[in-house]
Amino acid sequence: MDCIFCKILENEIPSYKIYEDENVFAFLDITQGTKGHTLIIPKRHVANYFDLYQPELNAIHNLLNKQRDQIIALDPTITGFNVGVNEGTSAGQTIFHAHIHLIPRRKGDVEDPRGGVRGVIPSKQKYEKK
Ligand code: 5GP
Ligand code: ZN
Repeated sequence: MDCIFCKILENEIPSYKIYEDENVFAFLDITQGTKGHTLIIPKRHVANYFDLYQPELNAIHNLLNKQRDQIIALDPTITGFNVGVNEGTSAGQTIFHAHIHLIPRRKGDVEDPRGGVRGVIPSKQKYEKK
């Protein structure tokens, strides 16, 4: 299987591994959006998030919570997170093994963070509160 994340799971490509159990795996993104940027993946090769089985979704959700607690405990400068999935090429997905980005945020890391994940369409990130 020509999948970078499967190769990471098989230790054919090195990674900074954080957590592993029978369903899920967490490791640091090679290109850190912010320090601590973590990827959470199912062990089963599935291209898209919306094709995951419920037990995989449950395991991913539990691991997101666990990683959040651990990252905050290790780095008290973290004051928020962005959690995201790029689903499909038009949404920016580049690796077709489902994964969730857990991106720590720190106060002041960008000048005006309002809108957060709305920044996938940069001109629409900011919005006026009604
Ligand atoms: P996508 O664009 O599909 O949502 O995210 C793919 C992510 O995988 C990117 O953030 C990219 O930095 C990360 N990535 C790509 N190749 C590797 C790799 O070989 N090792 C690790 N740890 N991350 C990778
Ligand atoms: Zn894969």
